[in-house]
Amino acid sequence: MYDTNNIFAKILREEIPCQKIAEGKHFLSFYDISPKAKIHALVIPTGPYINVHDFVTRASVDAQIGFWQGFRETLAILQLDEQGYRLVMNIGVHGRQEVLHMHVHILGGNDTGPMVLK
Ligand code: AMP
Repeated sequence: MYDTNNIFAKILREEIPCQKIAEGKHFLSFYDISPKAKIHALVIPTGPYINVHDFVTRASVDAQIGFWQGFRETLAILQLDEQGYRLVMNIGVHGRQEVLHMHVHILGGNDTGPMVLK
């Protein structure tokens, strides 16, 4: 069940501020408040989806295309194409997802190091 009081829902309703990168009908991108790389951005859909499974199950095709176009627009603004970047999606308990509104982390601007698996 989607919680309309999660922090990203509040950002979408402009109840709390964010450092915006880009926005469109189906997406909003902004800088992570606690960056884990030189550049750490988040891209979120504007609709109420908990995670990517929820998104691909319930979102319209227009919303899904619009989200990924927003992701592409955000990457272009951040100029990460040449050196590359890492995408992270944390999902559920084992993924240690903190904010229960779907989001893609974009990490770059420096070598993000090896993937760490336990
Ligand atoms: P996750 O663990 O994938 O759910 O990550 C949630 C991310 O949201 C974390 O990296 C937080 O630093 C970030 N975050 C939490 N609150 C805010 C906020 N108000 N503005 C920007 N980023 C936030």
